[in-house]
Amino acid sequence: MKNNMYSILHRVCSLQIKRLPMLQTLVDYHIAITIGFHQEAGSPLTLKRLLLLGLSSSATVQRRLNRLIALGVIRKDSNPSDGRMLELKVTPLGNRLFSKYLKLLERIAGDPDRPPPSEPAPENLSDMYLITMGPEIRACGTCSFWQGARELRSGVFNIVEDSEGICRERADRGINILQTLTPPSRQEHCGHWQLAEAGA
Ligand code: SF4
Repeated sequence: MKNNMYSILHRVCSLQIKRLPMLQTLVDYHIAITIGFHQEAGSPLTLKRLLLLGLSSSATVQRRLNRLIALGVIRKDSNPSDGRMLELKVTPLGNRLFSKYLKLLERIAGDPDRPPPSEPAPENLSDMYLITMGPEIRACGTCSFWQGARELRSGVFNIVEDSEGICRERADRGINILQTLTPPSRQEHCGHWQLAEAGA
């Protein structure tokens, strides 16, 4: 075993924190890399396929994925031959961040004692595709039972476009978790709608 093993691993760890700040947990890492892997192989994942991989509980994967989408690292694209099917892909911004990270990793692997070059901080991660909704809309995105990524500001909800969230009300009735996924703009009459509070 190399006697500087932990010093090399420490550098890899520091590199990841510095270059990939959007990956806060191992699940974030697995989600982003798995989506990129299937995209590169020509078979992009749908949300359902991602959930079936069992990277973590469905609720956790959904929550962490929504965060990565909000940060502009992952996006949902329509399948070219079936517009109803949404595919998960790493965005060009995400590709650039991973590509830089990989190059720096290769330098560490090639010469573990050489310090990595200093580079500018990662680019702006705030490219969000948002829709806004007022509570009067009474859609899933404004309902307290909806567990997707959203933020309430000045009385309106900012929600990531095309995101889906789990309906907790349905999940608590024992309905299959995949069948509880609802888009924020779902507006069919629902007798269970309840206004979400700030910070929900
Ligand atoms: S289906 Fe009904 S209860 Fe569930 S999130 Fe949508 S509005 Fe709320």
